[in-house]
Amino acid sequence: AQAATQGSAVFIPSAKTPLLLNFNENSLGMSPKAQAAIINELPAAFRYPDDARAALISTLAKGNGLSDKQITLGNGSSEVIQMAIHAYCGKGTQLVCPDPTFNYAELYAEPMGTTITKVKLQKDTLAIDLKAMRAATEKFAGVSVVYLCNPNNPTATITPAADIEAWINSAPERVFFIVDEAYHEYVTDPRYASAARLVQAGKKNLIVARTFSKIYALAGLRIGYGLAAPEIIARLDTWASIDNTNLPAAIAANASLQDTAFIRQSLSTTAQSRKIVTQALDELKLAYLPSHANFIFHRVNSSSAAYRENMKKLHIMVGRPFDHTDGWNRLTLGTPAEMQAFVKALKTLRQQNLA
Ligand code: PLP
Repeated sequence: AQAATQGSAVFIPSAKTPLLLNFNENSLGMSPKAQAAIINELPAAFRYPDDARAALISTLAKGNGLSDKQITLGNGSSEVIQMAIHAYCGKGTQLVCPDPTFNYAELYAEPMGTTITKVKLQKDTLAIDLKAMRAATEKFAGVSVVYLCNPNNPTATITPAADIEAWINSAPERVFFIVDEAYHEYVTDPRYASAARLVQAGKKNLIVARTFSKIYALAGLRIGYGLAAPEIIARLDTWASIDNTNLPAAIAANASLQDTAFIRQSLSTTAQSRKIVTQALDELKLAYLPSHANFIFHRVNSSSAAYRENMKKLHIMVGRPFDHTDGWNRLTLGTPAEMQAFVKALKTLRQQNLA
C-alpha cells in the first residue's frame, strides 16, 4: 500500500508509486492527531471497543444536535446502508435509486428479491430526477426505499435541500429514505443542507448515512455512522454486526472530529486541487459538472474506458465505469501536487489526440 503524499511538492507517478485518483479518498492521509490517538490506544485493543464506541456516539450526537439514541455506528457507512436495506427491503418491496449513483444499496437489495427501480439522471444537467423518482414510489403499492446520494457519486452535484425536504416531509408512510451524505463535509453551496435537520425535527422516515472514509481519511479503518429517530436506530441495530466498529477506528474517528485544523486543511487543498483541474479542463475545452465534493465529473475526448487505459499507461488511475455516461470520467481530487501531475499527463494525452 502506498503512503500518503502529504507535504510533497511534486508527485511523479510511476509503476511503483501510481497516482490513485479512483476511489475518492483523501490523499492528505489521516489527521496526525488521529494517528497519534491510535498509537496511544493500541495497547488497549485487547479490550472490547464499548467505551470508545460510546465516546464516539456521544461526540457525534452533540455535533449533530441529536441524542445518543439517534446514532448508530457501522463498519463503514456501507454497513449503515446495508442495515437499512436489510431492515426495509425484500420481496414485495422496491428500491428506487438514481442512475448512475453509488450502487451499494442496490447491491445489498438485489439478492433479497427487492424490485430495483433505477431512475436516470436528468439529461443535460445530470442532476438527480426527484420528480421521476417520486413518481416511481407513487406507482408502487408496497414499501419503497429511496436511496438519495447528496452530493451524488459519480457526478459530485448536489440536490437542493428544499426539494429533498419537500418530498420527505410529504411522503406516505410506506416510503423510507436513505440519504447518503458521504461527502457532506465538502459542500459549501447554500442550496445544500444535511437531511440531519429532518431527523432533528423528529421525522421517522429516513436515515442519514455518513462516513469517516472521505474527508476524515480513514477509509482503511472502516467506520461510518447513521443518524435517525431512536426507534429507527433500534430497528436498524438489530441488523448490525454486534460491536461492528473496531477500537482504533472509533478512537481515530473521535480524534478526527476534533481536529478542525486538519478539516480546514483538507477543504483548502481540495479547493486548490479543484482549481488546478478546472483551469486545465477549461484550457482543453473539456466540459465538467460543478463539483461539490473531493471529485469532479468531466468529459473526455474518447470512450471512458480508452481514457482510463491511456491514463493507466502513465501510472494514473482515474475512476471506474459508470452506466450511461460514456465519454465522462470521475476524477478524485488529490493533493495539489498530485493534480499538477494529472494535468501534465492530461496535456500529454491531448498532444497525442487521446484526451
Ligand atoms: N457512499 C458513497 C456515496 C460513497 O462514495 C462511498 C465510498 O466511495 C461510500 C458510501 C462507502 O463508504 P464507506 O467507506 O463508509 O463504506
